[in-house]
Amino acid sequence: FDALQQFDPDIAGVLISELDRIRGGLQLIASENMSSPAVITALGSTLTNKYAEGYPGRRYYGGCSEVDKAETLAIERCKSLFDADHANVQPHSGASANQAVYGAFMKPGETILSMALPMGGHLTHGTKVSFSGKWFNAVNYGVDKETEDIDYAEVERLAKEHKPKIILAGGSAIPRLIDFEFFRKLADEIGAIFWVDAAHFIGLVAGKAIPSPVPYADVVSFTTHKVLRGPRAGAIVCKEEHAKAIDKAVFPMMQGGPQMHSIAAKAVNFKECATPEYADYAKQVIANAQQLATSLGEHGIRPTTGGTDTHLSLHDLQGIGVTGADAEKRADAAGIVLNKNAIPFDPAKPNIASGIRVGAPCVTTQGMGTDEMKQIADLIHTAITEGDGTPEHAAAKKVRAQVTELVERFPAYPR
Ligand code: PLP
Repeated sequence: FDALQQFDPDIAGVLISELDRIRGGLQLIASENMSSPAVITALGSTLTNKYAEGYPGRRYYGGCSEVDKAETLAIERCKSLFDADHANVQPHSGASANQAVYGAFMKPGETILSMALPMGGHLTHGTKVSFSGKWFNAVNYGVDKETEDIDYAEVERLAKEHKPKIILAGGSAIPRLIDFEFFRKLADEIGAIFWVDAAHFIGLVAGKAIPSPVPYADVVSFTTHKVLRGPRAGAIVCKEEHAKAIDKAVFPMMQGGPQMHSIAAKAVNFKECATPEYADYAKQVIANAQQLATSLGEHGIRPTTGGTDTHLSLHDLQGIGVTGADAEKRADAAGIVLNKNAIPFDPAKPNIASGIRVGAPCVTTQGMGTDEMKQIADLIHTAITEGDGTPEHAAAKKVRAQVTELVERFPAYPR
């Protein structure tokens, strides 16, 4: 750090002030976490220098003996963690991993059946602004109006009508467990590939806190930086019969040289995830998310689907007359970081939204438990119903004082 501070005080300053920002507030973005010093050390290493196109033992560059060891460890640990036939740890991100899955199984113009973005899906699942919607024909399912959970009857109807090449389950705002067995049977019935994008919940699977999609799916893609708590990147596991297609699709179809520092950090993270401490963490993440959902609900901030089985909950703010955009701004002004989110059948525009998404991965990493979640729900309620979006407002100041007290008791990256 001294070298950085001397050469580039501007960026050194950003590193420090970002650490202060993380430490100073409550981080409730469901897709974020706080990776360990061990992961960050691997990320900030000289492995960033190495070109290693190809795979361990069959590279297009010399000098790969050491990075081969890192990638082999990452692959073996990933396979063992998820009990998977095959793992590819090279995707640079979740979007890159998804691009590779399309590349492995689909030709431009072919059809995929996936969850609609405003219902909880992801940009890369076929939205028109993404490569996925530009190159492929996406047919979308949504959620049931009553239960607000996946509309399985609609999935079945659309699958039989459109005969997609791939059926995709998973998304960015799904609070409930997904019925993988249902999707597997349906995919078999119509001869489709069953793909799970497990980016959000794979950490809970790693901690054995929820059922795994791996036995059911042909292929599972995921990010490594959400509940999982590794570096900002992606990975793919799949059945042996798809191993070659996936590897070829990651490199050379979609990517060039792998980021070996990031792959080493993934190896460290997979080792962390195999510990009993991580299993406890994963279970606590769910308990905390459930408490947050319940306590916010008691304040009239209704959890969609009635609650959560995972690390996140989605809340409908229409009952308290606040928009998602205002809630995000008011919470932020009080030191609580969360995001506005469309709720199913949202009448508001996506940049306003009628909901918020809250997640427990970060605060659980800090060691908080269900008592703290009750307090956080009270603080969110006060901030978003009484605040005006400025840090000077009395409600924001009152909440921030309690946030400060809380994060001092449960520090992020303790000194
Ligand atoms: N898939 C899902 C379900 C996601 O939630 C995300 C990111 O939030 C991605 C893919 C994309 O990951 P990345 O941002 O690493 O490209």
